[in-house]
Amino acid sequence: MFGWKHGTGRPPAPEGDFGAGHEITGDAVESGMGRRMSGHDRADRRDEAVRAAVDQGLLGPGTPIVGLLDITGIREAATELRAAFDAVVAPGTPVLHAFAVKATPLVPVLRLLYREGIGAEVASPGELALARAAGIPPARTVLDSPAKTPAELRDALALGIAVNADNPQELDRIDGLMRSATSRSPIGIRVNPQVGGGSIEALSTATATSKFGVALRDEGAREWVVRAYADRPWLTRLHAHTGSQGIPLSLMAQGVAETYALAEEINRRLGRPQIDTLDIGGGLPVNFGSDETTPTYAQYARLLGEAVPGLFSGRYGLVTEFGRSLLAKHGTVVARVEYAKSAGGRPVAVTHAGVQVATRTVYAPASWPLRIAAYDGKGRPKEGPGVVQDVAGPACFAGDLLAEGRTLPLLEQGDYAAALDTGAYYFAHHYAYNSLARPGIYGFAPDGSGGVAFATVREPQSIDEIVAESGGAHADSLTTLRAPDRR
Ligand SMILES: *Cc1c(COP(=O)(O)O)cnc(C)c1O
Repeated sequence: MFGWKHGTGRPPAPEGDFGAGHEITGDAVESGMGRRMSGHDRADRRDEAVRAAVDQGLLGPGTPIVGLLDITGIREAATELRAAFDAVVAPGTPVLHAFAVKATPLVPVLRLLYREGIGAEVASPGELALARAAGIPPARTVLDSPAKTPAELRDALALGIAVNADNPQELDRIDGLMRSATSRSPIGIRVNPQVGGGSIEALSTATATSKFGVALRDEGAREWVVRAYADRPWLTRLHAHTGSQGIPLSLMAQGVAETYALAEEINRRLGRPQIDTLDIGGGLPVNFGSDETTPTYAQYARLLGEAVPGLFSGRYGLVTEFGRSLLAKHGTVVARVEYAKSAGGRPVAVTHAGVQVATRTVYAPASWPLRIAAYDGKGRPKEGPGVVQDVAGPACFAGDLLAEGRTLPLLEQGDYAAALDTGAYYFAHHYAYNSLARPGIYGFAPDGSGGVAFATVREPQSIDEIVAESGGAHADSLTTLRAPDRR
């Protein structure tokens, strides 16, 4: 029912686990808000955009792959995030929603989110530069990363960007910088509450041996943290990010609860409210199984209010760092079917979208199944009986499949296959296998007269750029390097 009104009229039956997205279902779908979030409008907007992309020549035989971003959907997600926390926090509580830039590192997206009241969480010099290029001020920016260099730390403190120290050695470096200059940066420590992992090991940040933060349950760690705050009046924040896709909401809430309890303990033992802000990280899972948004920010905020009484009392300012949940469902990568063939009795559609735009799905298909929508050569939703088929990418290895054994209307040469929910950690995360070019990315919105307007987010990569990025300027460097004498 959600976006699969075409073709077979039923959703595909992808193998594998769609993560924790189905864990919470509920009232949102029935409510007025739920009507909007239930995905009908989203699917309609997507269908119109694919059609318009073909009509307007963004997509065609010469440009066989494109990434599309639903500007309306992104704006709605930002509004829902802000409203969800506004509804639960005490009036006047400072709340900064900092978008995890790594989820969709595109400057126009960061600017759009900033206009919708969302700041930036950055984790590298590149991400910080993107946030600054988008015009996001230091006061709306948070720097977290497990490997900050002294230069990065110095720059962040000079700018007044909030920094979360990952470990004791990093705190030592910050000590040195704080002795030599004053900084407006709010500074915190990242802790790992070690509450456990979820269904995707690589995205579980709160396991006993996770590389992130100070492992709170390790011997002596809690005392070290308390002392660190006692010795440094400028340490005013506490940070945890307990996971991402595949983590049950209850575990995320438990991570926040442990972090809150630690802040309470530190302030109590210090006899002063030194920790004034809790950074609760991001990690809300996304439902990759339908067009429905579930869980919602409102559900998560309510759950936090129940699981961590006091969190929203107004005694702490809040920072959140959502990434995937803000962008995933608003992106679609659409690729032309170059050839349709058959192998071993199974139809195989060879498209232009594969490992270069859907790296996680191709390498870990059981953890990251994607829905595929079929469109005809004019970009219209494809009708027809469901046929079990493979949807392959252009890369030269056998596993380069967007979907294996998926039931869809038969994809034929010149049709288009769309990989849905790819607005975060997919087409904005190009993987340069086979020197495949980065596709162009366009945002779409209603044009005001019943059609669809597109805006360039990122130009497609040119072949000249590929050569330049692959050492084209140094073609002679190896052959002219003087070789040692051979005797
Ligand atoms: C990746 C990351 C996030 C965002 O995670 P999502 O699952 O995309 O919401 C937030 N905070 C930190 C520290 C991260 O590393």
